[in-house]
Amino acid sequence: MTSETADTSATIDFRSDTITRPDEAMRSAMAKAEVGDNVIDTDPTVAELEERAAATLGMQAALWTPSGTMANLVALCVHLRRGDRFLATRDAHVLANELGSGAWLAGGMPEALEHDAGPGRPSPSAVKKAAGPRKAPYYALRTTLLCLENSHNAAGGAITPPDEHAQLVATARATGLRVHLDGARLWNAAAALGLPPAALTVGVDSVSACFSKGLGAPVGSVLAGGEDFVAHARRIRQMLGGGVRQGGVLAAACLVALGRVSSLKDDHANATALASGLRECGWDTTEPETNIVLATVPDVALTIDRLRAAGILTLPMAGKVRFVTHRDVTSADVAETLRRIKAGPR
Ligand SMILES: *Cc1c(COP(=O)(O)O)cnc(C)c1O
Repeated sequence: MTSETADTSATIDFRSDTITRPDEAMRSAMAKAEVGDNVIDTDPTVAELEERAAATLGMQAALWTPSGTMANLVALCVHLRRGDRFLATRDAHVLANELGSGAWLAGGMPEALEHDAGPGRPSPSAVKKAAGPRKAPYYALRTTLLCLENSHNAAGGAITPPDEHAQLVATARATGLRVHLDGARLWNAAAALGLPPAALTVGVDSVSACFSKGLGAPVGSVLAGGEDFVAHARRIRQMLGGGVRQGGVLAAACLVALGRVSSLKDDHANATALASGLRECGWDTTEPETNIVLATVPDVALTIDRLRAAGILTLPMAGKVRFVTHRDVTSADVAETLRRIKAGPR
């Protein structure tokens, strides 16, 4: 966190942590990256990233992808057979923000689970009930996959703690489901809990994670799993047009990003300060666990317009106004945001 004073006329952008731009250190790592052809054989920088990401996530192997959306799609394509049902929390990114590709391209039948165990997570009993009997008759819909999301975007960056994660994975196993974890912001959950990211992936078959959000890379995500899973995933990525030749230029940025996980705590402190400042102004907000603050307002579009007029950019999410803190917003920017909000009409 920096304490310099913010420019009182500058726009402050809370739309997403995806807006973060590569800084000088990252650009220089990109410029110097050793590269090869990552489709014909290998790119050394991509290979290094994949190895380090797999180790950080506690998985055997990993695959770089251009986006988190592609990482999730590849995972669903590998896990699902045509017509298989998959479970995910209501408003999960795989259900709400990927244009239906889980159904359209991976051929799955989506089923939303309520967040009945707390924001961002279903209860083990809800998973068990939705999974149905292990041996269903041939004419019955088969449920084969549980998708978890940690932290959960639409639930305001809510964390599923490791003990609840373990119970959900155990229930999925007992009912014959595989488990994919959408960990686009798993880094945030890990930083907030003070745990290594691998502590939050225990028992899953696959996990996706983004370098292009709070960690600040311009492009890139990773999909990690077992050796066989990743070998299959590599073929699907190629099929989807995600084979990138001199990908090392991009992977170099992701390697810099991977070294920045602990700095996400600054974003979390900024989110906490923003939420408490908004509440002092009479706003109804979530108590952020990571870097997302959701505000409940009578008219979301109107509030977003008024904020924009004050030079504060936000986006709607799950029927609320979403503020995301990130490395390009300082604590001084948060103070300036609160000053403008106190000065202006809501
Ligand atoms: C952003 C996000 C993704 C997708 O990442 P992109 O790189 O933007 O495609 C997937 N899941 C969650 C929870 C996200 O927040």
